[in-house]
Amino acid sequence: MTRMLIIGPPGSGKGTQAERISERLGVVAISTGDIFRANVKGETPLGVEAKKYMDAGDFVPDSVTNKMVRDRLGENDVEDGFLLDGYPRTTAQVEYLDSILADADQKLGVVLQLTADDEELVKRLLGRAKETGRSDDNEGVIRHRLDLYHEQTEPVVAKYAERGILTQVDGIGGIDEVTERVMEAIKSAQAA
Ligand code: AMP
Repeated sequence: MTRMLIIGPPGSGKGTQAERISERLGVVAISTGDIFRANVKGETPLGVEAKKYMDAGDFVPDSVTNKMVRDRLGENDVEDGFLLDGYPRTTAQVEYLDSILADADQKLGVVLQLTADDEELVKRLLGRAKETGRSDDNEGVIRHRLDLYHEQTEPVVAKYAERGILTQVDGIGGIDEVTERVMEAIKSAQAA
């Protein structure tokens, strides 16, 4: 049974690592960013609303995000576990997730944080912008997203550290190398 979170600054490779953890552990990965992007692509009302914020590098409001996560975590495929990627990003979202889990009589096992320094992340993200044309990958927006991470998401990490379920992994290095570190860290955290 695995209920876990992956947290990391933009560009830390959390989406890639989340997919790999999901494959190796056989848990469903849920990325709020991917759900938003799919809705933007499909031009759904949720997508139209979210796009305004995403393009500016801002967080989509909790009124939209929290409900979306509650609905997704209510689906059958996550009864036996999940890996949440990109949520919670604020301490208010931590409280909301706490309430979703408490209602379902569930608990988080592991919170994994990928770390990397800002300049490396900016370099990576500018590279990714060229490859994918993601509309939130230009330098001004990238720096804004990093600032939000430091201001809003680091306090989230601190909360899980206080609860004793945080494990940190250095996100700098080759993708395979980081995956090995991540899998080791999860194993040790689950054994603890
Ligand atoms: P990501 O792919 O995780 O980097 O997310 C891309 C964008 O989706 C973010 O910059 C936000 O605009 C939005 N987003 C994703 N997750 C959340 C969240 N938990 N709360 C608010 N906005 C989010």
